[in-house]
Amino acid sequence: MRVRLLDLGGQYAALSKELRAATDEVLSSQRFILGPKLVQFEAAAAAYCGAGHAIGVSSGTDALLAVLMALEIGLGDAVITTSYSFFATGGCITRVGATPVFIDIDPNTYNISPTALRRYLEKFCHAVDGKLVNENQQTIVALVPAHLFGLCCDMNEMIAIAREHNLILIEDAAQAIGAEFPLQGGAAKAGTMSDAGCFSFYPSKNLGAAGDAGLVVCHNERFAERMRQCRHHGMGAQYRHEFVGGNFRMDEIQAAILGVKLPHLDNWSAARRQVAKFYTDEFRRLGLEKKIQLPVEPYAERGLTNHHIYHQYVIRSQRRDELRKHLAEREIDTAVYYPLALHEQPCFEYLGYKAGDFPEAERAARENLALPIYPELSRESQQYVVNCIAEFFS
Ligand SMILES: *Cc1c(COP(=O)(O)O)cnc(C)c1O
Repeated sequence: MRVRLLDLGGQYAALSKELRAATDEVLSSQRFILGPKLVQFEAAAAAYCGAGHAIGVSSGTDALLAVLMALEIGLGDAVITTSYSFFATGGCITRVGATPVFIDIDPNTYNISPTALRRYLEKFCHAVDGKLVNENQQTIVALVPAHLFGLCCDMNEMIAIAREHNLILIEDAAQAIGAEFPLQGGAAKAGTMSDAGCFSFYPSKNLGAAGDAGLVVCHNERFAERMRQCRHHGMGAQYRHEFVGGNFRMDEIQAAILGVKLPHLDNWSAARRQVAKFYTDEFRRLGLEKKIQLPVEPYAERGLTNHHIYHQYVIRSQRRDELRKHLAEREIDTAVYYPLALHEQPCFEYLGYKAGDFPEAERAARENLALPIYPELSRESQQYVVNCIAEFFS
């Protein structure tokens, strides 16, 4: 039986009439840029996330880039981020001329480790004239954690650390739209616990566009206005450019499609959790949790619905590559997110990191394996995946 990692066919079949009607409306109106569908979607997305403002942009990457540009982060600045994420998290920091500073991850959640972060700050950073300066004499201005695989990182710790050191806090929430976190003082959704949250609507994300699209959410109205200018070349009054931004606008057609899909997101996330529960229950029942490390759910007992939205269901094994081959031979697609930690990327060689600097990120890169997961994945397929993994370890 062929099992794909992700198959969006079922979702499209269920929504095709509405999706076509919404795109037809845009085509008939001939309003393709900054039109009413975008305004509608931004209002719906802000309400869904619980953010004061939402600004539609051209991709998740551009969300990160535009936020850094709007905050005037650049040359001479250093930005702390995780050593294990999709490339864009680190790439955007470099693109604005700043230096990424990587921090190792927690081996259970794959998210940035607050302990490792505190250790770095204590060991290598000191305050100079109220600024935080690192061992390379760069000023650390911001902290950009990512919520990997649909699970929020420890935002209580991130917020505390950002406050202690007066850092701008930006969430890379590209994989975590709707994911909740038990914040001190009440639950909050990914992207809304910081100065700015960045989302991606890349087609394979939990909420996917028909192409590239992204979103920035924030609470501060002035920053929201600056983001709206930033996505439009920093333009205030017509052809008067207040600062250098870019063309980071979300297309009207994408906004129309996302507007149709957004009301279904919570059901899809619930269905993903069901798939995850089946996998986890079965692996435990078969005694496999000693052979493979299963995803953790640190916030499951905190009364949150979307405590994990399972953008990916990631297991780990020291025999990852053999297991992957075994599954491929049985027509089960899997993926490795990600085979290289950020400090191992060729383009970041100039930063001078070496093997062993972030042992947990490096180990995750060697051992992680993402299994098929999407809302419409049949129970039969789930069972087949479990059976084939059990067969491998038997
Ligand atoms: C997908 C993703 C991005 C980039 O989003 P795009 O829309 O593909 O540009 C950034 N960060 C993370 C963690 C992602 O998963």
